Amino acid sequence: MLKNPLFQEILMDITNDEESSFSIIECILKGKTSDEEISKETEIKLTVVRRVLYKLYDAGIASYKRTRDPDTKWESYNWRFEQDKVSEIINKKYESLTEEIERCIKYEEENIFFVCKTNNHRYKFEKASQTNFICPECGESLEYQDNSSIIVKLLNEKARYTSLGKSKDIK
Ligand SMILES: [Zn+2]
Repeated sequence: MLKNPLFQEILMDITNDEESSFSIIECILKGKTSDEEISKETEIKLTVVRRVLYKLYDAGIASYKRTRDPDTKWESYNWRFEQDKVSEIINKKYESLTEEIERCIKYEEENIFFVCKTNNHRYKFEKASQTNFICPECGESLEYQDNSSIIVKLLNEKARYTSLGKSKDIK
């Protein structure tokens, strides 16, 4: 799951620090679970480790258990990585990406487009016809654009998301 590109994106969204988050999670999965252990193992400053962990906690993908040493009375936090929650977030993200691509495909299929060759300004037929097929931005003439390759690209992208979404990676 750590290798899943969407997971990396999600980590970035949550912590704004993909590299540290990644190392910290790896460390927890390896069984080093207290702030101090994680900091020592990853060589990431303790303050950074804590900041990242609390952000992950807020997002629901990390949780902790507080324990107190009976002799020293010293409190420590042991962290857990919530894989199920991550799978859930990833699935939701796949769904919304797929929906977005479907919207784009529909838009491309249902419209006819005209472009100016130099600057690639792009207009729907209705708009292009209003200006007599002259680009309102740069004054060049607008030409019909065959958008079938754009549609193919979008369909490929959708297929890629669908296969990623089904892949075992996220389990
Ligand atoms: Zn133009």
